[in-house]
Formats: sequence, structure tokens, C-alpha cells
Amino acid sequence: MAKLITKEQIAEQQRFIMKLREENARRAQEIGHAPLALTETYGCQQNENDTERIRGMLRDAGFEFTDDANKADVVIYNTCAVRENAEQKVFGRLGILKHIKEKRRDMIIGVCGCMVQQEHITEKIKKVHDHVDLVFGTHALYKMPSLLYKAMTEKKTVVDIAASDGAIAEELPIMRSDANKAWVSVMYGCNNFCSYCIVPYVRGRERSREPKTIIAEVKELVKSGCSEISLLGQNVNSYGKDLETDIDFADLMRAVNDIDGVRRIRFMTSHPKDLSDKLINTIAQCGKVCKQLHLPFQAGSDKVLRQMNRGYTKAEYLEKIEKVKKAVPNISLSTDVIVGFPTETNEDFEDTLDVLRKAEFDNIFSFIYSRREGTPAAKLDFVLTEEEIHRNFNRLLDTQNEISLKKNTEYVGRVEEILVDGVSKNDENMLSGRCDSSKIVNFKGDKSLIGKYINVRITEAHTWSLNGEIV
Ligand code: SF4
Repeated sequence: MAKLITKEQIAEQQRFIMKLREENARRAQEIGHAPLALTETYGCQQNENDTERIRGMLRDAGFEFTDDANKADVVIYNTCAVRENAEQKVFGRLGILKHIKEKRRDMIIGVCGCMVQQEHITEKIKKVHDHVDLVFGTHALYKMPSLLYKAMTEKKTVVDIAASDGAIAEELPIMRSDANKAWVSVMYGCNNFCSYCIVPYVRGRERSREPKTIIAEVKELVKSGCSEISLLGQNVNSYGKDLETDIDFADLMRAVNDIDGVRRIRFMTSHPKDLSDKLINTIAQCGKVCKQLHLPFQAGSDKVLRQMNRGYTKAEYLEKIEKVKKAVPNISLSTDVIVGFPTETNEDFEDTLDVLRKAEFDNIFSFIYSRREGTPAAKLDFVLTEEEIHRNFNRLLDTQNEISLKKNTEYVGRVEEILVDGVSKNDENMLSGRCDSSKIVNFKGDKSLIGKYINVRITEAHTWSLNGEIV
């Protein structure tokens, strides 16, 4: 059973929130407004959810928020370690902040999350970016108030990247980014050690939250008007394995399905080897569980899958997909694919395309392999040249774009229930929302519909979205 951060530890952080509040009230007198904080998130939904906790603590500490780094008194970057380009982006941002800080010496710059949980990155920050005041890893998130207070008052660099025993921090303040939809983390960490992935090293082993705490959080969310719940975990369908209670992810999903006021349930990310028949049936039987499944396959070749340590073969993966399609007709499928794993040949890549064609995903998240220091795959030599990898990557996109358009075209004429998110990103005269299968639907409508569920007839299909009209 996962250990919890004790009530005393949380109470200590509460005391620091109050100290920061006093400090911020004093400063507000000086500058004529509340000190401003800026947060920026890189990476997955788990990080987005962590940032909501960070913002909750900052809000309780008396900060207001800005998107303008030139005005911010505190900047916190919550970082991702999964791919190199996310790390490069953060280093680029830190370079820009250096110039801003030269003019505003009191500004506090903090970097937290998965990227800094790696020691070599923190060393680089200390050496190359000595204008950073605060560095804290994934295990120290709950300590942010005391660390920030120290950085603000002692004017020296504060670093806490110690790996903990994986205790879970409950009851942290939270500032949700959306009133109608919420992420609820049900477990943390991962035990799978896929050979290319840094997550188990930076987030630790799997720890599940107690079901009663999760249910209480969902009930609170419903009370505040939220109706769409996304259950999160790095490997969500191995939920419960470490608990003393006899409960698995399917049971948890059923319990959330039974809560009055919950209207939609989504979940991610599922590992193919842990996708049980019981879970497939639960998706089929629970009316509030959206008919959508994200099931990363990563590569099609059995050789590459073995070297990735994924724990399944191409045939086993496709068999699961067939089972899901049979049990849940019209389910929308998505996946993650890595192109250019070191030992992948052009022939191996043909297997990846074959999975794409056979599974017919609605959409995919595709990436070129990114070497992560400290992982077993980082020691492997590449078979393909960069040029060949890019050519394969483009072939993957072309193949999927055709499939996505075909799948979206099947929606034309259907009436879909949409939760309206806001104004469309591509056209300010349109609204945008997501249907049950999570496809983006754009349509004309009054802004008063934002946050509401409405029915829309799909009139037009594009590769990445649908257009429709209110019925
Ligand atoms: S399942 Fe594999 S890819 Fe996913 S987080 Fe765990 S180790 Fe990484």
C-alpha cells in the first residue's frame, strides 16, 4: 500500500503558505498590486494536473496570475523528460528569462517536474543557468511552499530533487483549469521500464491512491459543477495492484460511473498488456464511460517490441484491438507510435504501417525516437540514417492522415452530443467542443453555450476535426 505524506508534513507546508501570504501582502503594499506568478507546463496530463496543484498553492499564498513573463514575480516551469525537444524548449525559455531577470533582480525563477529529477539536468541548470532560484523534482512538489519561501527570503538557489519512497501527497490545494472537466490522478509512477522511457526513473514505482479518496475527490468535483472526469495514471489499468483492498481499475471506473452528476468518464494511459477482458467489458457496459480508448502500440515489429520491453507481440496487440472493437462497436481508438527506435530497420517499420492499417486508429500521436540518457535503449546503435527515419515518419503521417479522414467521414450525418469548450482556435466565429469519442467538433453558436452539453449534427469531416450544426 502506498505511503501518504503525513498530516504534519502537509500542515508544515500550510504554515509556509501563510508565511508567503504575509510576505506577499507586504509586497503588495509596496508595488500596489498582488505579486504575480506565471506557470508553464510541458508534457503529459499528469504534469497539467501537477501544475493545477502548484497554482492552487500559489493562489493560497496570495499570488495572482499573469501570462507575461515581463510582469511575473515568480515563474515556475513544470517540465517533461520524455523527449529531448521539450527539454530544449525549457532551456530556451530560461535563456530569455535571464535577460528579463537582469532588469528585475527580485524575480524568482523555478524549474520543477520530471526533467529536473534527472541529476545531470540539474547540474547543467546550476552551471549554465545560475539565474534559476528554485529547482524541485516530482517527489518534492508538495514542498513547494517551503522551498519557494526559502528562495524568496534567503536569496539563494534552493534545490530539492531527492527521490522519495514514493509517498502520495493528498489534500494539496488545487486550482482547476476547467470548470466542467477535471483530471483526477488515480495512481503515480510506472513499473514497466520500457527500454526507451525515462518515466519510471523520474516518477518512481507505481503507487495507487485509495479508492475512497478518489471517489471523494470526484464527488467534490461534481458538487462544484464538473461533469467530465478523466482518470489519470502513467499505466492506469494496473491501478490497484499495490493496494490491500481487492480493487482493480475496472472496479474503480464502475464506482465512478455510479456517482450521480458524473456525465462522462475518460481515462489514460492504458498499457496493452494490462488491458483485461474485464476492463473491456466495463467500458462497454458503463454508460458514462466514453467510447474511446488510447492504447499505445509504439512499434509493429516483434523484434523492436521485444527490445522496447513492451511485453506483447504485434499479433497480441491486434487481437486486443479486435476484442475491443467487437465489445464496443464504434469505439474511437488512438495510439502512440515511435519511429526510428535504434534497432528498427525499414522492414520493421513496414510492420508499424501494417498495424496502422489493420487497427484503423482514429488518430495517432507519433514521435521520432528521442534518446534518453540513463535508459537501456540509449546504449543501442542506430540502424537507419536520420534521413531514412524522417522518410518513414512522413510515410506514417501520410498513411494515418488518410485513415483519420476516412474515420471522420463516417461521422457525417450523425448527431453527436458535444460538451462546448469555447471559441474555436481556428475561427473566432465558431464554437468548439468534443463529442463522446473526443473528436473536436466546430460549429456556429452563441457563446452562452460554453460549458453546456448540446446536440450537433456532423456536416463535414476533416483530418483532425469535424464541422457541424446545432440541432
Ligand atoms: S508504460 Fe513504458 S512508456 Fe509508459 S510510462 Fe511506463 S515505462 Fe514509460
